[in-house]
Formats: sequence, C-alpha cells, structure tokens
Amino acid sequence: MKETMEFKTETKKLLDMMINSIYTHKEIFLRELISNASDAIDKRHYLSLTNTNIPTTEYEIKVEANKDAKTLTISDNGIGMTKEELQEHLGTIAKSGSKEFLEKMSESKGDVDIIGQFGVGFYSAFMVAKKVTVLTKSVNSDKAYLFESEGLDSFTIEEAQKDDFGSEITLYLREDTEDEKYSSYLDEWEIKNLITKYSDYIRYPIKTWVTEYDTNDDKDSKKEPKSHLELKTINSMIPLWKKNKSEVTDEELNNFYKSKFMDYQDPITSIHVNVEGMLTYNALLFIPKKPFYDFYSDRNEKGLQLYTKGVFILDKCKELIPDYLRFVKGLVDSADLPLNISREMLQEDRAIKKIATNVEKKILSELQSMLKNDRDKYLEFYKDYGLNLKYGLYEDMGSKKDQLKDLILLNSFNEEKLITFNEYKEKMPEDQKAFYYIVAKDKQAAKALPQMDLLISKGYDVLILNDDVDEFMIQVLKDYDGKEFKSVNKDDLGLMDEKEAKKIDKLAKSKKNLLNQIKEDLGSVAEVRLSKKLVEAPACVSTEGEITFEMERVLKSQNHDVKATRILELNPNHNLFKVIEATYKENKEEAKKLVNIIYGNALLEEGVIPDNPKSFRDDISNLILNLNPNLKLDDEVVDVDAEEVEENTENEDKKEEK
Ligand code: ADP
Ligand code: MG
Repeated sequence: MKETMEFKTETKKLLDMMINSIYTHKEIFLRELISNASDAIDKRHYLSLTNTNIPTTEYEIKVEANKDAKTLTISDNGIGMTKEELQEHLGTIAKSGSKEFLEKMSESKGDVDIIGQFGVGFYSAFMVAKKVTVLTKSVNSDKAYLFESEGLDSFTIEEAQKDDFGSEITLYLREDTEDEKYSSYLDEWEIKNLITKYSDYIRYPIKTWVTEYDTNDDKDSKKEPKSHLELKTINSMIPLWKKNKSEVTDEELNNFYKSKFMDYQDPITSIHVNVEGMLTYNALLFIPKKPFYDFYSDRNEKGLQLYTKGVFILDKCKELIPDYLRFVKGLVDSADLPLNISREMLQEDRAIKKIATNVEKKILSELQSMLKNDRDKYLEFYKDYGLNLKYGLYEDMGSKKDQLKDLILLNSFNEEKLITFNEYKEKMPEDQKAFYYIVAKDKQAAKALPQMDLLISKGYDVLILNDDVDEFMIQVLKDYDGKEFKSVNKDDLGLMDEKEAKKIDKLAKSKKNLLNQIKEDLGSVAEVRLSKKLVEAPACVSTEGEITFEMERVLKSQNHDVKATRILELNPNHNLFKVIEATYKENKEEAKKLVNIIYGNALLEEGVIPDNPKSFRDDISNLILNLNPNLKLDDEVVDVDAEEVEENTENEDKKEEK
C-alpha cells in the first residue's frame, strides 16, 4: 500500500530553494549522496563491531547511469533505513545545519554561493533531478521500502522488494536547458571526474561502469578496437591523513578540506601531522579562510573529527581542541583508542589529552612561523581570529600566556602597523623602563589624551588597546621579558626626572589642605593629587586599582555596575592651578564650581560622562554668565517687530528664486 505524506514546512522551503536554485556548482549533489552512502556504511560497520547479529560484507558504493531512462543511481550496502527512518530523515529537516542554511539564505537574499558551506545533503539531489526514489532496507528490519518524491509538497512510501541491506537512490534527471546540461551527469567521464574531485578519500570503493578497450592484436587493422564495460573502483580510498606528509601536495590538502568541511575557499593554512611511537596518530588541521557562518552562534560546537584505526567515531570531539582554537577544523585518527570509546571515557583518556596538547602545539608553532615568514598571511588570519588568541591568553588565569604572548599584535602609537610585544621592546630607547599602553579607540583618540604629552615628548611608543579583552589580557600578562606594563590612563608613569618629581612631592605636602578640600567638594574622587605626567593640560582623571574606565564600560555593557576608582590629577605648573588656589581663598562656593568644571572636563577627555551632567552644565553656564558682569540681562533680548521678520524672509525667498 502506497502512503502519501506531506513534507514539513521547512523542508518544503528548502526543497523549493533547491528546485529553483541557480547555484553554479550543482554537481555537489553527487558528493552529498556519496557522503551519505559512506556514512551509512560507517554506521553499519560500527554496529557490526558490537552486535553480532549484523553481518559485515564487502562494502561498496556504486554510481550507475542509465542513459535511456536518464537516471543516475547511487547505491550502498550500508545500514539502510526503516520506514520510520525514511519518514523522519528524509521528510523533515532535523539538522540545525540545514535550518541555519535556510535562515542565512533568506538573510543573504539568495547568495547561492553559500550552499557549498552547508550540509544541505540529500535535498541537493533536487537541484538536478525532477524525481528522486530511495529503495532501502535496514539491517534492523526484514522489510524494504520505496520512497518517492518530486520534491513538491509530498512524498510517498510503500513496501518494496530488495534483497540486500542498504539504499539505492535514483535520480530522474531534469531535461537539459540552454544553461544546464543535466545529461552530462550520465557521462562516464564526468562521473569519474566528480568522484575523484570530491570523493577520492572516501574509505569505501566507489565503483562505476568504465569503458575498457580490448587490446587489438592486429596492429595494422583500421578497425575500431572492441570495448566493453567494467565496474571499476574510481577513488584512491587511502585516507589522505594516513599518507606520508611528504607525499601529499598542498592542492590535495586544499581539495580534501573543501570537500570534507564544505567550504568553497582554500584554507589559510593546512597542517598535516604524522606521529609514530609511544602514541601513534595522524591529524589534518585547517584554518578556514573566513570563520564559518555559525562561528559566532551559540550553536557552534568546537571539536575535531575523531577516527580510530580509520573508523569514524565522532564528529566533534571537543576534548581535542582548546576553546580559543575553536575555529580550527580537522580530524585526528589514532591507533591507540578503543573503537567503543564513550563520550565519558574521552574526557579521561590520557591518549586524547596527549594528542590534544600536541595538536595545540602544532597549531601555535605553525602560526608562529606564519607570523615570521609570511606576515601578510598572518595579518589576514589575525583580522578574523586574533581576538580568539587574546581570549586564549586571558583564559584560565593566563595559563597559556607564554605560548600565546608572541602571537599577539597590537596597534602602536608610533608605527603605522600592528606590532608584537617583542617588536615594541626592540624599538625601546635605552632609558625606557616599562611598556606603556593606553586604552583608546585609535591613534587620534590617544593623541587627544593629556596624559600622552610627556610620552610623546620623549618619543616613547605606546600600545593602543582597543578590544574589550585587551586590558584584561595585559593584566594577566603582568610583564613582558621583565618589563612591567604601565597604563597611561592610570599609573604614575615614572617619567619625570627625579628633581622635578621631588619638587612636586614637596609642593603637594604644602598644598595638602587645598587638595583635601577639593576632594571633599567633588565627592566622587578617591584622591586629588599633583600630577607628575601632565605637560600642557591643566588636569586629567586617572584610575586606581584593577578596574579602569574601559573595564567599567565593558562591565556596564554586561550589566555589572562597577565603578573605577577615580583620581583627579592637577598640573601644578598650569595657571589654572593658581586660579583654583586663589579662588578658594576668595570664594569657596565659586571655587567649588570651578573644580567641578575642571573635573568634568577631564572626564570627558577620557570619554567618560561627568558624574552629574546637569550640575556640570549649570556650572559652565554660570561661568559664562559671569564673563561679562556689566551686561544688563533684565532687558528683553528678543525685541523684533514680527512684521519686519516676515518681510525679510520674503525678500530672501525672492533672492533665492533668482
Ligand atoms: P546528513 O547526512 O548531514 O545527516 P542528509 O540530508 O544528507 O543530512 O541526510 C539526512 C539523513 O538521511 C541522514 O542523516 C541519514 O540518517 C539518512 N540517509 C540519507 N542517505 C542515506 C543512506 N544512503 N543510507 C542510510 N541513511 C541515509
Ligand atoms: Mg549528508
């Protein structure tokens, strides 16, 4: 009995997209169907290892064309599907990958180039076929079923006849059009070409019918040699990672990466690892040119594929890669793991831990050599993934800092490029004792900060931090090569010569009462001191302790109401300081307003809104009003004849018309 069932709404949408697709690489449908066949065999093989009821067999995948019927059939002797599985796996989209694909597709308004990045899988068949049938028999059932669909709203399932376990997917190809020769997929050469291009490393033989010419003994004969068809294995089958590193070309690695991880671009770099000895494993690691579409989503799961002795075990083994390297794609195949390893065992397994440590080391040393030998490439990498390295350095209380610190690049005040800590160090003048950094949006913003004056006058370079994590990272790092980090925004920079500094200390002592008075009047500062770092500016606000203005901002965006401890620094050599002092002697109320303005202004220079914007504004207004005490403010300022105004505007309108 034939049952008709409806596709789920989402599946309909996806099918609709496939059917109407103008994607130029429709040929990937074959890769998808072969990969499903290979997965199905993997599953059967894996089951047979633990379940003796399930027989093993000579595994194979066949691709067969029928030119008369214009059909292409991909068959496997894998696990097969029960009726329920047919309905569930082919009738609904369970995978988040396809769902995200749908979302992305509607966001990107049909940028078909992204199809390749998604495992749209089975449905891709409808890019080239007007009808698809699936004849399948599950190893867990003695009944076979036939699924049939034209990709529209519904599909049918009925009981059928099939001797062997496995599935047979038949595509009824569409009619050729001007732009698209669907019949080419029936061509022997094209089939061979697509198999080697996309599926060469599938571990099971992929067979297709190939024309073989009989050797002609009669050399002078003008007759065409006779030929016959033979079912031949097309793919090389040896997993690329098992080959010796020196035998594998970059191009092979790139092609492997693209077909395995469904990217349409070559990776930035590929790392091939063969290790033999106490621990034996092979690994292939790739850094995608661009972070994957789901990289920033919560659904993104990190992990490398895990194989043991060539048998696929797990798609995302998260134990193999640290969080901060989550962008790395790849696989590990080890001979030292049991086939039936469980997820719980993975966490404890010492071989896995050891491999993970090595994998991490390999990646970091590859990055280090990229930075050294191909800076442009590293910059391209760093643009997308640098932030991850910074987080890596900061994570776990900086346990990885020594491995990561030399991979970090930061903006420099003196140089027009990103520099490493080491490059900063090498350019330091002999008398420079510390690393200086400033938190600022960019060089322009940094330059505008009064605290920079002394550093600029000395010619010292300053690292400009502009990522949220930067300052946290520096705090974890503490020092570089024995040189302390000093924040221009917060620390006493220790740049003033000793004599001058002593003078200021002495002066500060004698002005102690005044400074205390100012502190009391401002209320929200922890201290008012005489500055040792200002040159031209009258004042600046610095912070004390771990929390800086930048962190205050970052934490606030995460809903933490933590305030930086504010210190008002006054420039004792500035005339304003004398004015403040004099005003305090004459009129305490006026003086209070004055320091409030100076403080508010210094905050603004740091990009921080004054604590009480209204009183800040009132004080400034008051100051301006007092500029000209003789002005008679009681007179009406606006005293214009209304008619006159009208006339004037009319005249102006006329002028404009001309
Ligand atoms: P994916 O392979 O990423 O899971 P597909 O759309 O390619 O997504 O396939 C959907 C599901 O259909 C598979 O997960 C599998 O359960 C089932 N399936 C597809 N092809 C086969 C096959 N040849 N043999 C057994 N199951 C299959
Ligand atoms: Mg698939």
